[in-house]
Amino acid sequence: RAKGLGKNRYEVFNSQLYLQVSQRLNLELEMWQAVERGEFTLVYQPIFNLSTQKLVGLETLVRWPHPTKGMISPADFIPIAEETGLIIPLGTWVLQTACQQFHLWRQSYPYEFTEDIGLSINLSSKQFSQAALVEQISNILKANKVPGSCLKVEITESILMEHLQSARQMLHELKALGIQTVIDDFGTGYSSLSYLSHLPLDSIKIDRSFITCMEQTPENLEVVHAVISLAQILKLDVVAEGIETDSQLATLKTLGCPHGQGYWYSRPLPPELVPAFLREHS
Ligand code: C2E
Ligand code: MG
Ligand code: MG
Ligand code: MG
Repeated sequence: RAKGLGKNRYEVFNSQLYLQVSQRLNLELEMWQAVERGEFTLVYQPIFNLSTQKLVGLETLVRWPHPTKGMISPADFIPIAEETGLIIPLGTWVLQTACQQFHLWRQSYPYEFTEDIGLSINLSSKQFSQAALVEQISNILKANKVPGSCLKVEITESILMEHLQSARQMLHELKALGIQTVIDDFGTGYSSLSYLSHLPLDSIKIDRSFITCMEQTPENLEVVHAVISLAQILKLDVVAEGIETDSQLATLKTLGCPHGQGYWYSRPLPPELVPAFLREHS
């Protein structure tokens, strides 16, 4: 009897595993097709100067409007794209498409898209391990007539830690093109504070989880305060992410946080809504 039960369990496990594996393979296949067919789209979330309330930049975020499953979150497909290597063609597409869009905007709306409006793009670990990444970015910027000084690349602490050998060289090459480097989701990864002062970084983005918890306990507030003070000492810019309430905004202003983004200002916008939004906030 026990043997029978064991066998049944094994079969249940087996068929569940089979389902998981086949769903996953199917998703991978669909992702490759989606890249080839150009099914991915980009949205842009505005970044603001907290004291002037002026728009200072746009963060590029990829979207996958799946034909039958609805909108799939990048939190769900970026990790798979990383594992399978799909992130390389997808990441190239994001860079190319965002730069092309940015150039179009600058051409068509010179009054709104002034020199000081930045374009932020997220890079993944796999992309960062390509020796030719900076050359590729440089070519895409040239082809689309986007000045390097407009571009900010966002990388996580874990990317820096994984690529400590190559990171320094890479960041110097980016800097030589005028491109700024931002540490994304600051505070969530394994990190050593020493790299902050030893690498040519420009900015840190405080992770949304800290902004969400900030007002719950004095300790959480002190952590955000400390990060902002540290950035000031190291002459790094700071962007607070995930600002959702009046009171979070007020608190961040009191702490002297220079920049921020979040639903309080705007959700990520489809490209056709960006020029009008900029007009209202410049
Ligand atoms: P991220 O770079 O930290 O981007 C910020 C995420 O927070 C975005 O989620 C944005 O929509 C969301 N967000 C912004 N403000 C608020 C807010 O006030 N409240 C809440 N609840 N959420 C807010 P999204 O677009 O789902 O992207 C998730 C992550 O996927 C990104 O986190 C980034 O790590 C990754 N990602 C997105 N696009 C790309 C891409 O083109 N390339 C790469 N490598 N990664 C990307
Ligand atoms: Mg980001
Ligand atoms: Mg982030
Ligand atoms: Mg994130």
